[in-house]
Amino acid sequence: MPMNRITKLGLKLAAIGALASLAVTMPSPIEAATARGPICEAKARVGSTTYYSCNGSSHTALDMSNQTCGSWNHRGMLLGTFNYKYSGGCANNCANPPPNPNCNGGAGNYYVVSGGSGWDFRQLHVNSNGSSKTQSCDRCALGLVGSTGQSYGAHVHADNRQYGTRKSAWYTSVSTTCGSSANCENRVGVPTL
Ligand SMILES: [Zn+2]
Repeated sequence: MPMNRITKLGLKLAAIGALASLAVTMPSPIEAATARGPICEAKARVGSTTYYSCNGSSHTALDMSNQTCGSWNHRGMLLGTFNYKYSGGCANNCANPPPNPNCNGGAGNYYVVSGGSGWDFRQLHVNSNGSSKTQSCDRCALGLVGSTGQSYGAHVHADNRQYGTRKSAWYTSVSTTCGSSANCENRVGVPTL
């Protein structure tokens, strides 16, 4: 027997309902966040972007420093409240070259903010202090600018990856390059999360 109009309408409504319930279970939408510099000091600068020192080997991340070690806060860079997951266990270091370059796979003490579809945002090489722990916060102190892991000279390394592959669009799209301000009031990128 052919379906009458009411039955067809009912099936359509059921299909819409199924789609709506599916949408609820989908991962959160991918969106651009705003990242500011990690160091609240005027002379903080970007030192490396797609290439180390902008003319060396491949890097595809931002390295930022104010030429100090163990004295200035390493702050969360994302504007708004995000969950910063901490991986620690590396002894604080200011020596160059670093005595324990392989700690946490070279990342040293680090944080990761996880987004959808394999995207994440990381901040590496932290010297730990009482602020170093997993926490949800808006640009809070996460530790000190340091040099743990594979780090030559104290700095903050920040990258935006999808399924572990570093991407450059988040900082190239806002024209951040070597010499750009890495002050905590300056936007350095728009990472995807
Ligand atoms: Zn780096």
